[in-house]
Amino acid sequence: MTGGAIRLSGLKKSYGDEPAVRGIDLDIEAGEFFSLLGPSGCGKTTTLRMIAGFERPDEGEIRLDGVDLVPLPPNQRPVNTVFQTYALFPFLSVWDNVEFGLRYQKSSKAEVKRRVGEALELVRMVGFKARRPAQLSGGQQQRVALARALVLNPAVLLLDEPMGALDAKLRKELQIELKLVQKSVGITFVYVTHDQEEALTMSDRLAVLAEGLIEQSGPPEEVYSAPASAYVAGFLGSANVVDVEVHGREGATTDCTLGSYHLRALGECPPGPAKVVVRPEQVRLGSLDSEQPAGTSAFTGLIDRVVFLGPTTHVVVRLPDGQTLLAAVTNTLGPTATTYEPGSPVKAYIAPEAARLLPADTRPVAPADEDADLAEGDEAKVASAS
Ligand code: ATP
Repeated sequence: MTGGAIRLSGLKKSYGDEPAVRGIDLDIEAGEFFSLLGPSGCGKTTTLRMIAGFERPDEGEIRLDGVDLVPLPPNQRPVNTVFQTYALFPFLSVWDNVEFGLRYQKSSKAEVKRRVGEALELVRMVGFKARRPAQLSGGQQQRVALARALVLNPAVLLLDEPMGALDAKLRKELQIELKLVQKSVGITFVYVTHDQEEALTMSDRLAVLAEGLIEQSGPPEEVYSAPASAYVAGFLGSANVVDVEVHGREGATTDCTLGSYHLRALGECPPGPAKVVVRPEQVRLGSLDSEQPAGTSAFTGLIDRVVFLGPTTHVVVRLPDGQTLLAAVTNTLGPTATTYEPGSPVKAYIAPEAARLLPADTRPVAPADEDADLAEGDEAKVASAS
């Protein structure tokens, strides 16, 4: 596949006085699975709808393989959209739903049959071709909607929260399938979601949006491990964002204090107050007499809350200065191998490569799903220090 490269330049859109998209510059490569990720209202759908042609930008350009799309109506753009509500025709069979789009193309009967068959094969729905949408599960309906969009051979497929109506288990299965379908057809997919796990699982690259602007873009691993702001850190995965005082460089790391403890972190910041982000899975816990792993910074705190999540246990450690550290402990040897008692003292160890200094960031940390769980304190799961 060669075509399908999108370039957005200076894209802006307001509804009345309310800016929805405030200046987006973005290059999406041909054949890429690219996700626009962000909380509700950050402008993801508006961006997608401008690419599709359902909204006209106030300013800026949208180019597909160099061609300006803005003057073209939606049906003249080599772009197709899959919506959260599958928008299937209820009185048509699965086969006829997929065939529908091809009715306006001058294809022979044999060609139509071949393409519809191939599209249904791709989404594993051939066996359901005679059914009506109401006789299908949500996941199956979404597969049909995908086949209907792909049968037209668009250069770009736009997907607006296509799994929003499905349950968590089905979403996980479909995520893997969708990625496989995308790789096999080689079409550029632009995927809108507020679900960070979906974006991490499927994307070649992603952009995290905030208030109509791109906060950071890159491959999922890069954005996850080196978030450019507290907002991104909080939105993509759960994150500890702690207040520190920067003192200065010490070799390859920066010396800071977190309360009364020293913390060595990656990144550079002028001396003074700053923030450091640490992923919960990179906070190691040990007993008070445990041996400090080489090179780490050590903190002693009190266990505040313990949340059993199955594969991991989340332990919130309160430090003497009042800040908390969330540690995600992998239950490798089973959930009862190590017990954490709220109220008891514990050591937390952080390696310098797990601690990253963030530039000054006034935007509040975006809520990640798990953090929201913890913050609200689900009584059934959380054991609190009394
Ligand atoms: P969600 O995940 O909830 O769909 P989003 O990130 O896709 O959110 P948009 O739908 O692009 O966000 O909306 C961005 C902003 O523009 C929001 O403040 C929204 O209320 C506003 N908005 C979107 N569509 C319209 C419209 N047709 N008229 C007026 N305001 C709109």
